[in-house]
Amino acid sequence: MKVLRNSDEFPDYLKDASNFRGKCDLLLLPVHEEEIEGAMKLASGEGMPLTISGNGTGLTGARVPEGGAVLNLGLIPKKMEFNEELGIVTLSAGLPLQTLLQAAEEKGFYFPPDPTEKLCACGGIVATNASGAKSFSYGAVRSFVESLDLVLTDGTAFSLRRGEFIARGNRFDMLPFNQKRALDFTPLHMPAVKNASGYYLKEGMDLIDLFIGSEGTLALTKNITFRLLPKPAGVLSCLAHFSEEEGALDFIDQARFLTGEKKPRALEYFDQGALRLLKSDFPFSDDLAGAAVWFEFETGQEPPDLLIEIILSMFSDCGGKGEIIMAASPGERKALEQMRHSAAYKVNEYIASRGVRKLGTDTAVPAERFREYYIESRNLVRSAGLEYVIYGHFGNSHIHLNMLPENQTHFEAGKEIYSELCQNAVRAGGTVSAEHGIGKIKKDYLKMMYGEGGIRAMREVKKAFDPDFRLGRGNIFDPE
Ligand SMILES: Cc1cc2nc3c(=O)[nH]c(=O)nc-3n(C[C@H](O)[C@H](O)[C@H](O)COP(=O)(O)OP(=O)(O)OC[C@H]3O[C@@H](n4cnc5c(N)ncnc54)[C@H](O)[C@@H]3O)c2cc1C
Repeated sequence: MKVLRNSDEFPDYLKDASNFRGKCDLLLLPVHEEEIEGAMKLASGEGMPLTISGNGTGLTGARVPEGGAVLNLGLIPKKMEFNEELGIVTLSAGLPLQTLLQAAEEKGFYFPPDPTEKLCACGGIVATNASGAKSFSYGAVRSFVESLDLVLTDGTAFSLRRGEFIARGNRFDMLPFNQKRALDFTPLHMPAVKNASGYYLKEGMDLIDLFIGSEGTLALTKNITFRLLPKPAGVLSCLAHFSEEEGALDFIDQARFLTGEKKPRALEYFDQGALRLLKSDFPFSDDLAGAAVWFEFETGQEPPDLLIEIILSMFSDCGGKGEIIMAASPGERKALEQMRHSAAYKVNEYIASRGVRKLGTDTAVPAERFREYYIESRNLVRSAGLEYVIYGHFGNSHIHLNMLPENQTHFEAGKEIYSELCQNAVRAGGTVSAEHGIGKIKKDYLKMMYGEGGIRAMREVKKAFDPDFRLGRGNIFDPE
């Protein structure tokens, strides 16, 4: 195992893509899987808090340590074993998502909930219950996790298969690492929207779901088995511009209710600010349009004529501008996908260049409240005179409204508005984080969702797995 004690040697582990900064005393880099338990024990033995680091693409400071030790799985040789008959793959948590996506594709499979950023580690996407454009049709990473190999902070290792430990009401009669020990929990009133805020605590739940989305606070994930889907024969990817943003929202409202073969697997939005930001790199982005929608369908070898007719008719009904870009070949499709990735990337680049932290919402609300929420949010930011761009997974009523503060003063003003946007999402029955998680920067907003009672319920559960609050300290909620 490689052990580094001078943090000047590993500055990259003291931040993530949100530009949240931390400090730490020890970096643990096991070089064999068998060393992971020892590394956990070493940190415990020194009485240190321990932060697990994936690839640092997180947007909430969750992998950023606030002292103590950091453990990263990057040096461990990566395994990835496909069972093509069952359509599953078992892999090391340190494996980069990009490697999984490529290998799955070569074998005729695909992994639908991949987030926009592909450089993350597979352990990271499980820990944050990440999701992406295709989650509109297929849900988040949670829906694809079949089993996990986990390690507790004291080095205790165990495995969990989906369906193996199901709660009887609000009680697990035993825990996988101690059959004599029961766990009683208080369920949370989780919103009926895409959600990555806090622990998953539900009556009759599967224990594996507690670990998914727990942001490195309960256990380290060592290995993962994911379910895969057969790759579709063809994909039609489209970019439609609209004269007014209302038209784009109308289009999304109509497309959201298409069913069967006509159901889009992705339904994404760009406002005019995002189109302007993207114009120089993606000349096909029409920055004079009010807004645009990127959407995709799974098809046979050729897109059916009926589907194209439906798309064109909806486009014309909703005030479409120019012609829809329709991409069916992998190369053409890639350009549209890159445009979506670039929107997020460019915002993060702007934030880093100004030396401020990210101020982008990750809120989602029920579909029937979405349009009202969108307009209210946009007006709030606009009336404060702050620059902003909006994009997001609008099929899931999930919005990334990114304020672009020029300096710390603007950042502070934006923070006030950010809090109001979270409050409004909660009032509308939604969530403060639909996919990025809570980490260290959204804890106050989580309290808006669940109140002190909900936070207490999560703390009680954490105690069963990490009684000294060592793991992922400062993530999701603070120790009492
Ligand atoms: C440009 C850009 C676009 C993005 N788009 C999306 C998107 O569309 N959807 C989305 O969901 N996210 C998105 N993200 C956020 C980010 O990619 C995800 O949160 C990702 O899941 C983080 O993975 P990571 O390996 O980088 O984790 P890190 O940032 O390193 O860590 C994140 C959390 O995971 C925990 N963790 C990591 N590995 C393990 C492990 N083995 N065991 C236990 N805990 C672990 C850490 O402790 C931490 O709490 C985007 C980020 C960027 C920069």
